[in-house]
Amino acid sequence: MTAATPKGPQSLQVLLVDDNPIQLSLLRHLFQRHGHLTIEARNGAEALIVLATQFPDVVVSDCVMPLLDGYQFCRLVKDDRATRHLPVLLLTAQGAGLARFWAKTCGADRFLVKGRDLDHVVEVATALAKQSSRPHTAHAVPKLAQENFGVDAIQRRLAQALEQRLVETALRDSIARLYTAEHDTSRLIQGFIEILQELVLPGALLVSYLGEDGLWCHGVHGSSASAEDRQALQQAVADQGLFHAPPDCHWHPAADDDERRRSLRDPILRVFPASAPGYPVVGALAFLTERRAAEDHERLFEIAAEELGRLLSLEDSRLRLYHQAIRDPLTGLYNRKHILDMLGMELDQCGRFGQGLSVMLVDLDHFKAVNDRFGHAAGDQVLGVMAQRMAFGLRKVDQLGRIGGEEFLAYCPQTDLEGARALAERLREQVAIDSIPGLPANDRVTLSIGLASWEGPEDTLERLLSRADKALYRAKAEGRNRVVD
Ligand code: GH3
Ligand code: MG
Ligand code: MG
Repeated sequence: MTAATPKGPQSLQVLLVDDNPIQLSLLRHLFQRHGHLTIEARNGAEALIVLATQFPDVVVSDCVMPLLDGYQFCRLVKDDRATRHLPVLLLTAQGAGLARFWAKTCGADRFLVKGRDLDHVVEVATALAKQSSRPHTAHAVPKLAQENFGVDAIQRRLAQALEQRLVETALRDSIARLYTAEHDTSRLIQGFIEILQELVLPGALLVSYLGEDGLWCHGVHGSSASAEDRQALQQAVADQGLFHAPPDCHWHPAADDDERRRSLRDPILRVFPASAPGYPVVGALAFLTERRAAEDHERLFEIAAEELGRLLSLEDSRLRLYHQAIRDPLTGLYNRKHILDMLGMELDQCGRFGQGLSVMLVDLDHFKAVNDRFGHAAGDQVLGVMAQRMAFGLRKVDQLGRIGGEEFLAYCPQTDLEGARALAERLREQVAIDSIPGLPANDRVTLSIGLASWEGPEDTLERLLSRADKALYRAKAEGRNRVVD
């Protein structure tokens, strides 16, 4: 190890790490020629010992070295809060198999190929040092400096760092797997909570997210997390102002019997917003746990919040795509394919349980005239209004879709022909009571409706629709604005 002389205002202090004396002196000359100061170490272990007492601006390190190689050294530097911000530039040998992969996974800021890129090493190292956001005051003490610096301590630190990486990777992996295993948002969240609950017990954990149908909040708690504790956790999420309304939370006690007997001694409460890069905040992860556990697992909670954000954003995209695939964009009703698929499934149920079902084919009367008089855009608007009125006029159990330009299909489960007639008549009257915004006050758009009911196990979707179509044709022929079966 060579000690550095005091540095000038423009020059950097560069830690050079290489087991090859020739390579080391080459680097020293390159940096010193540009007015930088150098500190030297012959392997990763020596470099770590340097970092326990000195604060260089950047590290330039070889990869393959005895005792502690460049990757392991880099991993330890990036694993320690005190040295995490120190930029590390790794020099890899040309064509050295997995060198680039390891350089990336160990957290190196850059890597250059020894023979090829050495001309740029000073330039790159200077740029890295300038970008670095390392605080220049109040240096934290590296973990190693708190121990007895020896090879034992280094090996212990390395084992801990690798273990930590392994746990982080396993956590990411198990959360990511949920997405392929569960296709339902609340099961996805349950799975997520199951994975994380071990980290917080005997405390509590809650996940809240903005779902398709509003704000959801699920939590799990150990027995020593009191009702007030849970309330405080909910309040902490509400205080973040991520959502418009405070979440209404469903709590479950943790299943673990051992954890029930333990109690919280020095609890701490934390909230992490959950979002994927480039997406708005879609949820939050909050927990109440021992202060000690929160500190030890801080990185794991950060990772969990990151993964939760990714999970929820993916889920959001999936639901949006699904919504797009089954809905008609103009009216928001189910599209032709989806309403027919649903009707097909409903008919299977009829076959199995022998329940009735009726179908309405609905066509707007003289709709071409609306377009002709007021334009296509006004026609579109009328379609939207009529769709809303029909949806409103039907019962909750009935399903409605747009199957063509101004044609709609509704089906009514467990409804015989007589019931369907009453329903259709009511619908026909209701949609024509009020005028339509944008159209002259006295103008009304009316409906013709063809009805058909399921006639037993021999009946098919095609026959049912064909009967409804014929009835609709007759409704038109008999003068429109009427219901025919
Ligand atoms: P009928 O009472 O016999 O059903 O007469 P109609 O004019 O409603 O029937 P026709 O089938 O002759 O014309 C349907 C019209 O609906 C023609 C088409 O321009 C219009 N239409 C279909 N889809 C749309 C749409 O998405 N937007 C608009 N604005 N008009 C549409
Ligand atoms: Mg029509
Ligand atoms: Mg038509």
